[in-house]
Amino acid sequence: PNPVAPLPEAKTEAAPRTPDDLAALQVKGLSKSYGSNTVVREVTLDVQRGETLCVIGPSGSGKSTLLKCLNLLEIPDCGEIWLGETCLTAPDADVDAARSRVGMVFQHFNLFPHMSVERNVSLALTSVKGMGREQARATARRRLEEVGLAAFAEQRPSRLSGGQQQRVAIARALAMEPEVMLFDEATSALDPELVKDVLAVMRDLASGGMTMAVVTHEMGFAREAADRVAFMCDGRLAEIGTPDRIFESAEHPRLRQFLSQIL
Ligand code: ADP
Ligand code: MG
Repeated sequence: PNPVAPLPEAKTEAAPRTPDDLAALQVKGLSKSYGSNTVVREVTLDVQRGETLCVIGPSGSGKSTLLKCLNLLEIPDCGEIWLGETCLTAPDADVDAARSRVGMVFQHFNLFPHMSVERNVSLALTSVKGMGREQARATARRRLEEVGLAAFAEQRPSRLSGGQQQRVAIARALAMEPEVMLFDEATSALDPELVKDVLAVMRDLASGGMTMAVVTHEMGFAREAADRVAFMCDGRLAEIGTPDRIFESAEHPRLRQFLSQIL
C-alpha cells in the first residue's frame, strides 16, 4: 500500500459530523454545590437521539439538581451542557432559547387553576412562541388528543384527576415541540391507581422516538421503557448501563443495596 495514503481512521476522523451524529444531550464534568454542600459531582453523561435514559438513586443523591441543571433552572458551578450543537453553558448562550428546546415535567404539575385545560397547554405557544391564538388552540387540541384528554379541553384543571392533570402538564411541555423531555418523578405525587395512565403516556412517547431523561422510582418503567439506566449516589453517576445490566448484574455495592431495598 502507498505509505502516503491517508489511513482509513484518519479519513473517518476528518469526515464532517452531521447533526445526526451528535448526542441530543451531552453533559461533561458537571458539578453543582449549594454553599459547601456539593450535590452533583463531576457528572459526565449523554443522551442519544430517541433514547430514554432513566435516572434512579436514593433520595438526596442529586437527581433533581442534575435534571434542573440540564434545563438551566439551576446554574452549574462547572462543566458543560450541550444540546445538539448548542453549548448551553457558554457565557453567551441564549438561555431562554435553550430552555424552550427542553421540556420539563415535575412531580407537581402547577397548572393555572383559573384557565381552561386548553389554555394551560396553549399559553406558552402564544406568549413565548408568538403563535396566533387559533393556531395555538389547534396545536393544544392535538397534544391533548395525544394524551387522551381532548374531551377535557374546556374544563378547569380542578375537574380532572391528578393523573389527568399530569397528562395535561405533559401535553403542555410537548406543545413546545422540545428536542428533549425531562421528567422528575412525574408520578410520585399521584395516587397509585392514577400512575398507570401517566406511565402509559410516557411509554408511548419513549417508543415514539422522543429523547427523554426520566428520574423515577418506578422500576418497572425503568426496566421496560429505558434504553439505559443511570444510578446516582452522593451526587455521582455511580453506574450506567442497559436495564438488564443494572437490574440483573449491578456492580456498585450501593446500587445493589438500593435495588435490594426497593425491588
Ligand atoms: P434527589 O432529587 O436525588 O432527591 P436533590 O437534587 O433534590 O436530590 O437534592 C440533593 C441535595 O441537594 C440534597 O441534600 C438537598 O437537600 C440539596 N438541595 C437541593 N436543592 C437545594 C437548594 N435549592 N438549596 C440547598 N440545598 C438544596
Ligand atoms: Mg428529586
